[in-house]
Amino acid sequence: MKIGKYKLKVVETSNFALDGGAMFGVVPKPLWTKAYSEPDEKNRIPLTARLMLIDTDQKKILIDTGMGDKFDEKFEKIYNVRRSETPVALGLAKHNLKCEDITDVILTHLHFDHVGGATQFVNGEIQPTFKNAKYYVQKQQYEWALNPTLKDRASFINHNYVPLKEDGLLELIDGEGEIFPGIKLLPIDGHTKAMQMVKISDDDNTLLYITDLCPTHAHIIAPYHMGYDNFPLTVLEEKEKYLPQAYEDNWTIFFEHDHKVEAAKITSAKKGFIVSDTFKI
Ligand SMILES: [Zn+2]
Repeated sequence: MKIGKYKLKVVETSNFALDGGAMFGVVPKPLWTKAYSEPDEKNRIPLTARLMLIDTDQKKILIDTGMGDKFDEKFEKIYNVRRSETPVALGLAKHNLKCEDITDVILTHLHFDHVGGATQFVNGEIQPTFKNAKYYVQKQQYEWALNPTLKDRASFINHNYVPLKEDGLLELIDGEGEIFPGIKLLPIDGHTKAMQMVKISDDDNTLLYITDLCPTHAHIIAPYHMGYDNFPLTVLEEKEKYLPQAYEDNWTIFFEHDHKVEAAKITSAKKGFIVSDTFKI
């Protein structure tokens, strides 16, 4: 897909799994099973860490970095993930790119499934994975990550992002704004404080990288939101703010965690918005 001068490409990192109940909050199991997927024997549903590469002649901008590979066997079992399959370098290689080629990394937020790939072990030491890149995250999210609530503290691991700050590669952004021409950061607070969505637009088309506001296509339905969300009512308000715009202006929504649906348009139905066409970008 192309928007303005930007070629938008998918960078696949590995699949993983999370508890289906936790992913759909108050929604009963028969409903989320129908809307998304059957769970496995541990009640986990299949998810992926799908990233976006925004490609121009001058810049290679990556949105999020997947889980990385700085974890142990216990973690592999809990999240049904294989360390050999997770590094973002494998996904970039399919586009004939190396980590050194990345010029900018937009981090939607600092939960480990989004920022784990931002740093890596090199000879036993943790270093930035994209050493020639500038990384961007909201200032309030960085502060939140250093001092999280009991609710999302298990999702923040300092070695995923503190080394970026120490090396001077991390730029802390304060609020909404255009980071590159046609690429806008939209901070929202329901999932975690100051997570940022990424909106890419030209005169005709818009794509919204909706990150964990709607991790899968099933989360477009208003009450389908995660038990992990810090502020559920805020999530509902944020859906009420952005989904009508997405429908009216025919935006493409890009899903970071949906194991099947890469992108979709949405439509208005009796009880709110639902996904209409699904497609690959
Ligand atoms: Zn998250």
